[in-house]
Amino acid sequence: MRKPRIVVLGAGYGGLMTVTRLQKQLSTNEAEVILINKNDYHYETTWLHEASAGTLHHDRVRYDIKDVVNTSKVNFLQATVDDIKVEEKKVVTSQGEVEFDYLVVALGAESETFGIQGLHEHAFMISNINSARQIREHIELQFATYKNEEVKKDERLTIVVGGAGFTGIEFLGELGNRVPELCKEYDIDPSKVRIVCVEAAPMILPGFDPELVKYARAALEKKGVEFHIGTPLKEAKADSVLISKGEDEVEEIKAGTIVWAAGVRGNRIIEKAGIENMRARVKINKDLRAPGHDNIFIIGDCSLMINEETERPYPPTAQIAMQQGEVCARNIAALLHGKDPLEEFTPDLKGTVCSLGEDDAIGVVYGRKLTGTKASFMKKVVDNRALYMVGGPSLVFKKGKFKFF
Ligand code: FAD
Repeated sequence: MRKPRIVVLGAGYGGLMTVTRLQKQLSTNEAEVILINKNDYHYETTWLHEASAGTLHHDRVRYDIKDVVNTSKVNFLQATVDDIKVEEKKVVTSQGEVEFDYLVVALGAESETFGIQGLHEHAFMISNINSARQIREHIELQFATYKNEEVKKDERLTIVVGGAGFTGIEFLGELGNRVPELCKEYDIDPSKVRIVCVEAAPMILPGFDPELVKYARAALEKKGVEFHIGTPLKEAKADSVLISKGEDEVEEIKAGTIVWAAGVRGNRIIEKAGIENMRARVKINKDLRAPGHDNIFIIGDCSLMINEETERPYPPTAQIAMQQGEVCARNIAALLHGKDPLEEFTPDLKGTVCSLGEDDAIGVVYGRKLTGTKASFMKKVVDNRALYMVGGPSLVFKKGKFKFF
């Protein structure tokens, strides 16, 4: 008789956590585990703003999947997932079809552009290693080109960031550190450079403590960031963005780099597979399964869970994706061992820390507000903890962040 086959899609936070727990909890006689991921490496999505700004090399942000996955227990397939045939229990990939008995969908998020014209064509998105590398190189090319052109185009040195949520603010913090380095490297007067943040909402970092938000805004303004808050971005063009300034007024900001960091949705594969969803995220049952699909678990940014206290969805975070991965592995093992009902997942939120660059941050950890170097230290602890949870001390020594002050 064929062993039950568990197929995990995506080697991000949720997927790797599931697989590394399954390889501990199940013997090879009990089940076959297959991990499918586009690349043969995992990247720390939460560090991509650093690789994008160029403050951290992209190789520091990724590690080989085989370094954390026991290949005698887990078969790794490097392939792109193209579709899920739910009824036929098959995954369609660039390397052929893979049958499953149990499926874990952990394919992460994609950028949401809300139908804004020109964003897909002219804006960069902080999505993966390739896009991060491209943003870093594009910014550097703008600086190098500026220095070498006869008739100087100052707008080349303007970087527009759409979105003042978590990702946008963390990226702006890194730019605030990187731009002075680039100015030195390319002999450019820093006053020529503009870092502009455009945000439709009436405040930056919605949902964060107002006192910390005030601190973050002041810190970024000190690093030269200009904020246009309550200002929707209407359109992106090849060399500018149009922003709304009141009912009928539109202002054009000329820019050499446009980065869109203002929203995420789930993975399009969810929509294609025909699983009921909201913006490609599945409102999952408490045991992490997709409603009506007893053999399909959806975790991480592809899942949607309502916080019963606030009646709003939990924000998609690595913290939740990893915790879901642990419960998902336990629930699959329970199903194989004939145990029912399954464990219900409740996020255990320890806090949130938002980086404002190498040496500054804001955060609330175990209910305590932190700013400055203390918060920045905590951010690195959080980053190192994520490595430890997946790959133990050896991964922390290899990839961890140890420059605390
Ligand atoms: P991911 O970790 O993104 O992994 C998805 C995996 O699926 C990737 O390996 C990808 O290559 C693979 N994949 C995707 N499509 C396919 C396909 N078709 N075929 C095969 N493989 C595929 N959260 C926090 O908790 N704290 C933070 O400080 C924080 N900072 C952030 C900073 C930035 C710049 C960004 C972008 C996000 C940040 N987040 C943070 C959010 C966090 O990164 C996500 O919530 C988390 O990555 C979700 O984990 P996941 O497992 O769902 O997806």
